[in-house]
Amino acid sequence: MKKIQMVDLQGQYQKIKAQVDASIHEVLDSAAFINGPEVHAFQKELEEYLGVKHVIPCANGTDALQIAMMGLGLKPGDEVITADFTFAATVEVIALLGLTPVLVDVDPVTFNIDVNAIEKAITPKTKAIVPVHLFGLSADMEPILELAKKHNLFVIEDNAQAIGAPYKFSDGKVMKTGAMGDIGTTSFFPSKNLGCYGDGGAIFTNDDDLAYTLRGIVNHGMYERYHHDVVGVNSRLDSLQAVVLRAKLPNLDDYNQARRTSARLYSEKLADLDNVITPTGAKDNTTDDYGICDNHVFHQYTLRIKGIDRDALVKYLNSKDIPCGVYYPIPLHLQKAYADSRYNESDFEVTNTLVKEVISLPMHTELDEEQITYITDHIKEFIKQNG
Ligand SMILES: *Cc1c(COP(=O)(O)O)cnc(C)c1O
Repeated sequence: MKKIQMVDLQGQYQKIKAQVDASIHEVLDSAAFINGPEVHAFQKELEEYLGVKHVIPCANGTDALQIAMMGLGLKPGDEVITADFTFAATVEVIALLGLTPVLVDVDPVTFNIDVNAIEKAITPKTKAIVPVHLFGLSADMEPILELAKKHNLFVIEDNAQAIGAPYKFSDGKVMKTGAMGDIGTTSFFPSKNLGCYGDGGAIFTNDDDLAYTLRGIVNHGMYERYHHDVVGVNSRLDSLQAVVLRAKLPNLDDYNQARRTSARLYSEKLADLDNVITPTGAKDNTTDDYGICDNHVFHQYTLRIKGIDRDALVKYLNSKDIPCGVYYPIPLHLQKAYADSRYNESDFEVTNTLVKEVISLPMHTELDEEQITYITDHIKEFIKQNG
């Protein structure tokens, strides 16, 4: 059996090596390292893929979020609502810009931001909502967009974990995550569903004026050479990363399908275990017999472990050379940097429970059935001994 890795980037690279290596050498020969034609071509291809008017490439997914908030003109004191159960980057940039993060609880089934909790948290100071499409599943965008419209709020989708995921509206219309809000952001960190071989990110919008503003902000606030109209940053995607992304983008749907196939196999093999809740899609999405939703792109395959010691299971799996992750072990509202006396523990019941129960199993495009069987057999063995 091939050694199990949390993410197998070597295996994936071998399949696109000829193309990637050739394009990297072309960039080296051309010496167009920054803002070259490859970056522009990738931008166009991603606009087409996502069905969005403007893609603005930048240096990473954290920058993308920061630049989005700068572009919307958010000011210190403005409140921005986001999920308590996510990677810290989302709340970090809110705080960094002097805005006020307002963390809210998530849904226990989808792990995504709880729409009722958003509504409860809206105040006259609220300016934006940042739904995170966690683990590869779209947040429930339809009611979020309605809420935003009603209260005149911006929506910034943190799409770092769900690029390529569709979301279905009640009228049947399907849109890709990142293309629904005022702005979408993503990360091309190597382990993401569309990852480059270094750092990278992008911002999406359908608004021409906003796109113009954002393109200036990523480039030192310059709209005309050496005229700095606004305070900007330096945040660029380089050509070497762009060629990797151009090689991978045509495979993204297949990559996401491979993840879904592995997820289905995991859920099939883990069905009927009392101590294990396998991940399922949003309530209103179509799911198969094992709860696998076609709209999920499984950045992570995350179980909830009930009634047995999650941390002991992690240790046991690691001892069998099975890597696994706990995303995320501490709610953001309890992190030292983001604690706030306004928060009530009773408002975070779901996140407070999830951090004790979740375990993410190896998930990538190269997993095979032998590996999945080895992993699930060991989970069953541990439960037999400890359940
Ligand atoms: C990875 C990630 C980011 C940050 O992306 P970087 O490219 O690492 O800066 C932001 N939000 C979420 C939800 C992420 O998973």
